[in-house]
Amino acid sequence: MKTVFGPEGVIAKAHPEYEHRPGQIEMATAVLRAFEQKHHLIVEAGTGTGKTLAYLVPAIAAACGSGARVVVSTGTKNLQEQLMDKDLPFLQEVLPKTFRAAVMKGRNNYACLHRIKRAESMPVLEGLDQIDQFDEVVRWMTKTETGDRAELSNLPENLPFWRHIDARSDTCLGQKCPDFDPCFITRMRQRALDADIVVVNHHLFFADLALRNGAYGAVLPDYAAVILDEAHQIEDIASEYFGVQVSNYQIDDLLRDVGFLKFENREAERELTRVSARIQRFADMFWISLREGRGLEGRFALISGYRTASGSDRPKSINLSLSDKDEEQQAGMPANRRQDVGAPYQALDNALNRLETMLDALKDAPADAENIIRRTRQLRFDLNFIIKGDDQSFVYWLERRGRGVFLRGSPIDVSGLLQDKLFEKVPTVILTSATLSSAGNFRFIRERLGLDEAEEMIAESIFDFENQAVLYLPPQMPDPRSPQWARAAADEVIRIVNATEGRAFVLSTSFAGMNQLYERVAPQIDYPSFLQGSTSKSALLKKFRSTPNAVLFATASFWQGVDVRGEQLSCVIIDKLPFAVPSDPIVAARQRHIEEQGGSSFFEYSVPQAIISLKQGLGRLIRSTTDRGVLAVLDPRLRTKMYGQTFLQSLPPCRITSDIDDLASVFSARSFAQASE
Ligand code: SF4
Repeated sequence: MKTVFGPEGVIAKAHPEYEHRPGQIEMATAVLRAFEQKHHLIVEAGTGTGKTLAYLVPAIAAACGSGARVVVSTGTKNLQEQLMDKDLPFLQEVLPKTFRAAVMKGRNNYACLHRIKRAESMPVLEGLDQIDQFDEVVRWMTKTETGDRAELSNLPENLPFWRHIDARSDTCLGQKCPDFDPCFITRMRQRALDADIVVVNHHLFFADLALRNGAYGAVLPDYAAVILDEAHQIEDIASEYFGVQVSNYQIDDLLRDVGFLKFENREAERELTRVSARIQRFADMFWISLREGRGLEGRFALISGYRTASGSDRPKSINLSLSDKDEEQQAGMPANRRQDVGAPYQALDNALNRLETMLDALKDAPADAENIIRRTRQLRFDLNFIIKGDDQSFVYWLERRGRGVFLRGSPIDVSGLLQDKLFEKVPTVILTSATLSSAGNFRFIRERLGLDEAEEMIAESIFDFENQAVLYLPPQMPDPRSPQWARAAADEVIRIVNATEGRAFVLSTSFAGMNQLYERVAPQIDYPSFLQGSTSKSALLKKFRSTPNAVLFATASFWQGVDVRGEQLSCVIIDKLPFAVPSDPIVAARQRHIEEQGGSSFFEYSVPQAIISLKQGLGRLIRSTTDRGVLAVLDPRLRTKMYGQTFLQSLPPCRITSDIDDLASVFSARSFAQASE
């Protein structure tokens, strides 16, 4: 690895400004060892380690040396594109070995030739704009090699009709499709089969893992090793894909596709129209029964009618109640506030059953009918699983997002599933991220993911945190739950941004906290203030980068994956310790599960999880060796509570101060001069 990463290595020769990083060589050596010795590795590589190249170089060496394919899974599509467009082409240039890399995204990123042809004669478009956009898609389809929607950069990100023409699996005809050979999915798979390195994202990786050995088989080609970057996200993503989901969109899509079926038999067509109308009517009633009394947006616990809050059995009838509060509160709720979805569910299920049996009985049914039967069957099965809600290892919940209502059943603990499907099946799994440890160890993440045997390492960052950053803890702050909090937090933010001349992110743990701070602080400071939600995230970041001394008020979505280098971002203020919201159904179920096992959910789950989140937020500040900045955490619990010490030990080793006058010193001429030497 020294011949690649060392001061005289191929990378330094290709890039004279490349900085030699001992932590990077150490990490690359550990990754190579894990490939050679076929074991798992968990490695925390803070910003400034150069972790992407530190795992790609050994991955290429291992894949080319043994001929065994390596999958690299990233947190987002943007990171996938960065690997494919920047890092891998660079390595292809400088490394002596030739290798082949392919990218795979989720199927709904690709156009479906069959559905596009069908849509040309079907009414899926609304308005002249959409007709123009659709024409552009059709022109593009004849030229594109990949069918990847990302190539349509001059069309809006959320094309309303894309969901009717994408290559999602539930509408795919598979080998019966007349366009199977030229299909973009077939071609994507072929490229991946020919590749040494396959770049995917976590959503696709875990969707594939959940399907492997199942009825519909795998999506990804076989692999000998996998590298999971941004591995702090994988518990949540795995729990999504090992779970079950039914949404109102799914039923709408099914009915739309039923409408596309063409029959010779007019009586069958009329009957199908009647059944579709019934499904639509009962589906509307079903979703209304679930929505009533709930907020417009958010995640709400579903409570099975099979159990009372005290755990005793009720008569086994379908009677599902919903609550955004906890189970105990729900049990005490007056009967007239509960929503009984039993009757609408039964009516919907009967109507779906009628569709299934009717299509099944048809002679000479069109090719798409088989696909609709399969989807209807799966839909009924999933709906029944969630409504029954009697698998105690799952949490059942509902999410409202825009016009979408999503019913979900998610495994509470994914550690056993990951052990069975991943860690025991794949010889080498590398987990990496800038934030995986808490209090200097990996106990939390390993327990959550079921990773028993693994080499561990924390790769040293190239950054000199002691000189580059100062951690400011205000001398006196009230309890965050007290009525005095909002005023005191706003006063502190004003003091801090005046000391740093703006150039700050103010990150809140809730929308309410963000809005409150913005309303109190923005009118009191002389710096341009921006608020999350006022425009898109990318537009907001662009404005922030180009506006001198700006202050941006934001929440969790700005805590991860945001990169603002240089003076423009010189201060990150975090209002409260980012404990997961206990009313969230998944968080509540995980905490309850730990308590039931005799553990302490606060110390075993809430604290380490909040430490990892806090490190993510603070990681926005120092992005290069010349960055300087102030980290400020307003929450007094960092000092007043015993667990505060664990948070402090987990943060980068920067100087701590409570003197506001100290903040300017971090930007002193001497510091900058040293940095530029
Ligand atoms: S094989 Fe499936 S995804 Fe491909 S064109 Fe046919 S229906 Fe669409």
